[in-house]
Amino acid sequence: MTAFAARGRATLTGAIHGSRVLVTGGAGFLGSHLCERLLADGHEVLAVDNFYTGSRDNVTHLMENPRFSVLEHDVTKPLGLDVEVDQIFNLACPASPPHYQRDPIKTTLTSVLGVYNMLELARRTGAKILQASTSEVYGDPSMHPQPESYWGNVNPIGIRSCYDEGKRVAETLLFDFHRQYGIRIKVVRIFNTYGPRMDPEDGRVVSNFIVQALRGQDLTIYGDGTQTRSFCFVDDLVEGFVRFMATSDDVTGPINLGNTGEFTVAELAEKVIAKVGGPSRIVYRDLPSDDPKVRKPDITKARAVLGWEAKVALDEGLDKTIAYFAKVVTP
Ligand code: NAD
Ligand code: UDP
Repeated sequence: MTAFAARGRATLTGAIHGSRVLVTGGAGFLGSHLCERLLADGHEVLAVDNFYTGSRDNVTHLMENPRFSVLEHDVTKPLGLDVEVDQIFNLACPASPPHYQRDPIKTTLTSVLGVYNMLELARRTGAKILQASTSEVYGDPSMHPQPESYWGNVNPIGIRSCYDEGKRVAETLLFDFHRQYGIRIKVVRIFNTYGPRMDPEDGRVVSNFIVQALRGQDLTIYGDGTQTRSFCFVDDLVEGFVRFMATSDDVTGPINLGNTGEFTVAELAEKVIAKVGGPSRIVYRDLPSDDPKVRKPDITKARAVLGWEAKVALDEGLDKTIAYFAKVVTP
């Protein structure tokens, strides 16, 4: 049992050279990669997850590490940890549109109550907290690319609002806890990130297209495929997280993290078909409402403050992701 799994300050190990880090959503796609990186960096890591979209399988390979533990917990409930925590990465929230729209009320509450509970934990323990916010705070943007100074164009009552507005209120709470109580905060606005360990049934475009191609099914483009996204490989994003968490306390963000390569959804589909081969063709489905028409991060701030930019080009990242899915998806 690790120090985190045990309860009470008296049980904390003295042998840890790194920090004690809590990762909510740690059994999800991004969270599991982050936990892996934090362990490699020598930290003691507690993943907190209710397995709504994540899975124990994502972290099975980490379970033998004595510095790693997993706690099944819903972040909408207060977290009664009484151990020291140095850092909190708050990632708990379903992220794919079909998942976050399945129970939209729960999605809003997960963002709002989840971050509130983590901020209260940060207040009790003195931890600093990094929030996984999103490019969705910009909504269907009228400014392109999107800098952090852009306030966004979000429909407050549409089918994406549970996610977008939940994340916006979360940012508000973070900045108010910072101003009111001096809590140390770091707000990352993540742009579409993909890679190994996404759930094959996740529903986001990169995993959908790859899984469809590997199964020999047709690739489903929503709308006419002219909408754009900028796709970031997971390792790049995790590097950005780690750099941001290490900044001095006056660096609060928000900071955009994303790859600046911009592609239409049709271009993505064509790339995946060309790489996977097989009989798949493209079919067109209705575009869901409020689907952003363009998206690309302005990363001037990330470059200046973190010395960060994405290194993995879409072709390279797709190859790695296809190789992963080829092992887990049956044709
Ligand atoms: P994911 O669905 O794989 O991971 C989310 C994790 O949170 C899952 O393990 C899930 O079980 C857990 N979770 C959900 N509700 C919870 C609750 N109430 N209590 C405890 N755990 C809960 O998605 P992801 O892509 O890894 O996203 C992680 C975070 O990053 C999310 O907050 C998401 O909004 C944010 N984000 C991701 C992207 C991206 O492109 N991947 C973009 C913008 C923001
Ligand atoms: N999309 C698509 N086919 C799919 C899944 C998604 O054409 O099978 C589109 C979706 O409508 C959107 C883009 O791809 O325009 C990115 O969708 P995703 O759900 O990955 O992310 P988000 O819309 O949240 O950026």
